[in-house]
Amino acid sequence: MDEKPDLEAWDKKFIWHPFTQHFIWDKEPTLIISSGKGAYLKDIRGRSFLDAVSSLWVNLHGHNNPVLNKAIERQLKKISHSTFLGLSHVPAIKLAKELAGLAPGDLTRTFYSDNGATAVEIALKMSFQFWREKKGRRSSGVRDEFLAIRGSYHGDTLGSVSVGGIDTFHSKFKPLLFKTHFALPPYCYRCPFNRTGVSHRFRLGETVTESPRIGKAREETGCRWECLRNVEDILKRRHQKIASAIVEPVVQGANGIIVMPPGYISAFEKLCRKYNVFLIADEVATGFGRTGTMFACEQENVRPDFLCLAKGLTGGYSPLAATMTRERIFKAFKGPVKEGRTFFHGHTYTAHPLGAAVALASLKLIENVKLLEKSRSMAHLMRDELIQLVDLPHVGSIRQAGLMAGIELVKAVTNNESYSPELRIGARICKKLLDYGIWLRPLGDVIVLMPPPIISGHDLKRLIRSLRDVILHETRT
Ligand code: PMP
Repeated sequence: MDEKPDLEAWDKKFIWHPFTQHFIWDKEPTLIISSGKGAYLKDIRGRSFLDAVSSLWVNLHGHNNPVLNKAIERQLKKISHSTFLGLSHVPAIKLAKELAGLAPGDLTRTFYSDNGATAVEIALKMSFQFWREKKGRRSSGVRDEFLAIRGSYHGDTLGSVSVGGIDTFHSKFKPLLFKTHFALPPYCYRCPFNRTGVSHRFRLGETVTESPRIGKAREETGCRWECLRNVEDILKRRHQKIASAIVEPVVQGANGIIVMPPGYISAFEKLCRKYNVFLIADEVATGFGRTGTMFACEQENVRPDFLCLAKGLTGGYSPLAATMTRERIFKAFKGPVKEGRTFFHGHTYTAHPLGAAVALASLKLIENVKLLEKSRSMAHLMRDELIQLVDLPHVGSIRQAGLMAGIELVKAVTNNESYSPELRIGARICKKLLDYGIWLRPLGDVIVLMPPPIISGHDLKRLIRSLRDVILHETRT
């Protein structure tokens, strides 16, 4: 006879969770999800929670969406998986054609994989191999260095960790990593060059959410683009050794939703062009409408050489990723077998047919339900609601781009002093929000809001007003 499942005990006994300290996890109740509908998750005890981080930044159309369900069911009846090594299949071909029409610039070639880290890993390897093929393998011509931004996050495989700039996650693995030069981040709130004493605390409504802008303009803080100058210093010194520069356009996600000042990303691209270094745009988090445009690159007309996509590609339904590039780059890998130009990379589940089928359906749905317009209109409402948090005593900074927002909590607003990490203030606030039927996952002391674009205005208001109550309550001294 089947054992009656004690799911919580089994979870604690058999599972090792990602990014989790089990010393804490094992002492706390485990929230076990059994189903979802729209913007809500339901747990095994029947409680409902607003999924206010889109299930780790992936969900677009809501859970259990009938159109996406149908697309998977249709594909399931045909075939669930056949390899992409030596064969091709219908949904992945159609999807690549669609993506070529949507991507910024002339990125016509798609290489599939299955998550954000591999999408990045592939772009890094392609950019490295490109220069080797071009230089005819003379060792003097090898470009084996990269440029990234401090605080960046590109995934957890060793290649993507090599270009990752978050010490807590990455520094332990340093002996295993390749050489990357890290430039100063455009983290205006904690900018060491802020001369005027005016800290740049609020960045709401500057990108596609537009006026009225809340917060100071970059120039008002005396900014002279020191962070970009640092990028140029590195490129000036090392450009002949650097294969590519990687950036999360418009929003550095895992660093705490750091919204870049307008002009940063296009200036970054110009530097890559000036020094002839490839630009990799990691839009794993920002892609598919999260910042209000299909891709964040569009906001400053940036045309990357490589575009990394995952998360929202399938509307949050299935692990599928894509690395897109130009025909010119693709051609450098093409030649008679004896020249050995083949790109030797692939995964068993590359271009998974169920993922490709649901991605196609998701792209169609984005258009049919005008999801980008919906995302922008919800972003306006979000800005109007976030304004109510500006005066709270422990809210140091609020940053928003489209439907991505980060609220940085500090011990003292007067000098931006951080809370002691042991207090786990972000985690405490998110835990309290469960009592309000809201699920959030913080990044340290930054409360991250990333609701799916299909969220209702009522739920969005409830989210931010509940958060206000909880912040006030939990930060009382
Ligand atoms: N790049 C960015 C910008 C991300 O935000 C993430 C995940 N948060 C990744 C890459 C890694 O994606 P995955 O977790 O699917 O490997």
